[in-house]
Amino acid sequence: MENSNRLFYSYSSYLKEKYGTSAYRVAVDAGFSCPNRNADKTGGCTYCDELGSMAVYQRGQEADLAHNGNSPLIDQVDTLPLSSQYLFADLESRKKRIKAQIENSINFLKRRYNPEYLLLYFQAFSNTYAPVSELKEIYDYSLSQANFKELIVSTRPDCISKANIKLLSSYQKKGIDVWVELGLQTSNNRSLNRINRGHSSADFIRAYNLLKNNGIKTTVHLIFGLPGENYDEIMESIRYLALLKPEGVKIHNLHIPIGTEMFSEYLMGELTVPSGLRHLEYAIEAIERLPPNTIIHRLTCDTPSHRLGAPRTFFKKGSFYNLLTKEMELRGAYQGRLFALNVD
Ligand code: SF4
Repeated sequence: MENSNRLFYSYSSYLKEKYGTSAYRVAVDAGFSCPNRNADKTGGCTYCDELGSMAVYQRGQEADLAHNGNSPLIDQVDTLPLSSQYLFADLESRKKRIKAQIENSINFLKRRYNPEYLLLYFQAFSNTYAPVSELKEIYDYSLSQANFKELIVSTRPDCISKANIKLLSSYQKKGIDVWVELGLQTSNNRSLNRINRGHSSADFIRAYNLLKNNGIKTTVHLIFGLPGENYDEIMESIRYLALLKPEGVKIHNLHIPIGTEMFSEYLMGELTVPSGLRHLEYAIEAIERLPPNTIIHRLTCDTPSHRLGAPRTFFKKGSFYNLLTKEMELRGAYQGRLFALNVD
């Protein structure tokens, strides 16, 4: 982190340092699936949304609803084709859909931000869950659609292999910066079982080390406030991660989409969801314990209001960051200040 006055090393600061101007992600659902979900769309992590974390602006009618923070809960909306709808589509049909999504994204980004640089982001489901030949065909085709500076691939620890790392490294050799976003969520194996993640913390370490040893930058995903977890468990996950010194981290407040198994548990009163203020406390403590050079990509979730079962009341993104800044300044808090506590 170059600027020592910075409270934390945000993703936007990183992009500005790296590109000197505006750079934005083009998010794509390439029709990959996930080994943790069944073919009939059942199973998976208990919070898994059928929309697989796809960018809201790719969700057709949902994009309008998402900009209205007071939208009521809606279960069925008209959307663009999604992974779950083209799971068994042939490669040519998938490419057509990828092309349409990239065009749609670029048009949206040009209208709103007019970016100088574009980064290709495979976001929905597990984007290394396919034979290497298929991955190569999809990545190559997608990268050929625009002058992308980065290839960002979101996936799970059990979908990282030597073969797909070799493929990812080949793009680095061509001058495209490659990042993998790796879901951990918590380092606590009991919690991982409870949310049916289908992998252990040991699986995560194996994948993380493979990436690290092959020079692939990694952003690790965490969720704060999972069922059965409070301050101690969350800080243990932060300690676990901080010692690994990942290039990036994405922190999410627990958010429960409607229609998920976790939402049923919530309705039955089997779990609680941290409030905005509690998440703020967790976030500040985590930031202080993380290494100063780890890029903090996000600190909250963006589930659109009409699909968010809980929490129904949470800060708007801007308000959360304003309050976080104020609180950190008041407390003299900054990223890395308590990093040394992790080794005690
Ligand atoms: S890893 Fe992601 S896509 Fe797979 S089941 Fe979990 S939340 Fe769903």
